[in-house]
Amino acid sequence: MTANKTPEQIEKLRQDNNKLSKRIIRETANAIVDYNMIEDGDKVMVCLSGGKDSYALLDVLMTLQKRAPIKFELVAVNLDQKQPGFPEEVLPNYLSSIGVPFHIENQDTYSIVKRLIPEGKTTCSLCSRLRRGILYRVADELGCTKIALGHHRDDILATFFLNLFYAAKLKTMPPKLVSDDGKHTVIRPLAYVPEKDLIAYAELKKFPIIPCNLCGSQENLKRKEVGNMLRAWEKESPKKVWNIFKSLAAVAPSHLMDKNLFDFVNLRPTGVADENGDKAFDAEDYSNYSPLEEEKTGTSHQALLGQEDEHTSVLQADAKDTSSTADNPSKDTKYQKVISIQKL
Ligand code: SF4
Repeated sequence: MTANKTPEQIEKLRQDNNKLSKRIIRETANAIVDYNMIEDGDKVMVCLSGGKDSYALLDVLMTLQKRAPIKFELVAVNLDQKQPGFPEEVLPNYLSSIGVPFHIENQDTYSIVKRLIPEGKTTCSLCSRLRRGILYRVADELGCTKIALGHHRDDILATFFLNLFYAAKLKTMPPKLVSDDGKHTVIRPLAYVPEKDLIAYAELKKFPIIPCNLCGSQENLKRKEVGNMLRAWEKESPKKVWNIFKSLAAVAPSHLMDKNLFDFVNLRPTGVADENGDKAFDAEDYSNYSPLEEEKTGTSHQALLGQEDEHTSVLQADAKDTSSTADNPSKDTKYQKVISIQKL
């Protein structure tokens, strides 16, 4: 990667890589804190497929585990579904080399799926249902309190548009959920990280990627179509894509149409003026948007998700004020955790 580069170019590359690592770690820490994903004493099962996202998830959680003010355990779990050509030595070798506790669950779901699904039909739905059941069982057997998946920002956006276009629903994959059996908490610590950063991180870290087409399943054309749409938007305007992402955390039920979320039926005037209330007749003004702003905003979610105020101001205060919490009772413990995790 550094062949034929000048010392200046090598130094620039080193700085860019450093920034990339810090950005991914910071965004992951932010998501964990924002959604209270990992708590003191948790045992987190990190689902590892051998793809770039799950390798990055494990890598970043191991870093956070060393630096966070709370104690939590990690155990990497791979489900070997016995797909033809799966290189079964790759993950155990890698996991042993990085010194993380791990478990490989061998279950031949590939044969079950092949037997039950007629040739040419989509296999993913049965395959993922079987996988889910096995992973829940393994989490129980290992005593894990959280199950971590490697979905990232672009997975969340793509799922949002797939639901919008093909299921007529405003929903996506949330950063944290309770499983349908009511027994497990599933978390997505990479929720704020864009895929392009994970692609670059996988190259930087030289993860031993296992190809994801071993099952021979057809590529999901709808997901591919939505992915292409998002990539085209990102190229045209990264801010537009970040704004869509930001909107998922800024929902106004009174300005949508779901009668179950907002009681339109009993809506009546209050008689009390509200400066921030609905102007009803005024057109929204979107003219402040300027493509030039994108240069300044970069790709960090913080400026766009409006979290910079909360986190950065506490960080700045902390940088100036080194007194302990006992000296300054106004600092609450959640912020102390944010500060400690953010100082990575
Ligand atoms: S792509 Fe293959 S391994 Fe993944 S869910 Fe579909 S059938 Fe299963």
